[in-house]
Amino acid sequence: MEALKQKIRNVPDFPIPGINFKDVTTLFKDPAAFRMAVDRFVQEYADKSIDIVAGIEARGFILAPVLAYHMGKGIVPLRKPGKLPAETRRIEFKLEYGTDALELHLDAVQPGDRVLIVDDLLATGGTAAAACQLVEDAGGVVAGVGFLIELSFLEGRRRLDGRPVFSLLEYDSD
Ligand code: AMP
Repeated sequence: MEALKQKIRNVPDFPIPGINFKDVTTLFKDPAAFRMAVDRFVQEYADKSIDIVAGIEARGFILAPVLAYHMGKGIVPLRKPGKLPAETRRIEFKLEYGTDALELHLDAVQPGDRVLIVDDLLATGGTAAAACQLVEDAGGVVAGVGFLIELSFLEGRRRLDGRPVFSLLEYDSD
């Protein structure tokens, strides 16, 4: 996993001063690293009961479809406001830098669906907690929340309140 960490670019002070941005595009463009990361995810969820994968905009959209494809499942998008065309449910939340909102189509998740939520990075957990809330408000069950990176010093896992979290790469400091 250290080899994967080497592929992630740190961009200091992006998008605002004080944030050390973990740029995963450098890992995604490396064929061996990308394959290793995806394979490890697929392995993690191979024996779990999942009905559908939900990707969080935007970098979750890079990982979620590959996983869904390998798992033989469909995918639904959790999007920034105003992007989804049909009727949605919306939740607003705080970010590590600012506020944001996520939307999910009303018919994307059916009651009882076991949903795997995927994003690139867990920071304070606000985004993922909102995603979980949207899935649960639709009657879905959060069967897993998967991240490439977890900034564990920000304790985002706590915000996820015992929902099953998996992260491939953990950072205990900036
Ligand atoms: P949070 O809601 O605080 O857990 O923030 C997670 C979301 O913001 C994810 O969608 C990440 O892509 C993005 N994000 C937050 N902090 C960082 C960071 N230090 N580097 C890269 N992305 C980040």
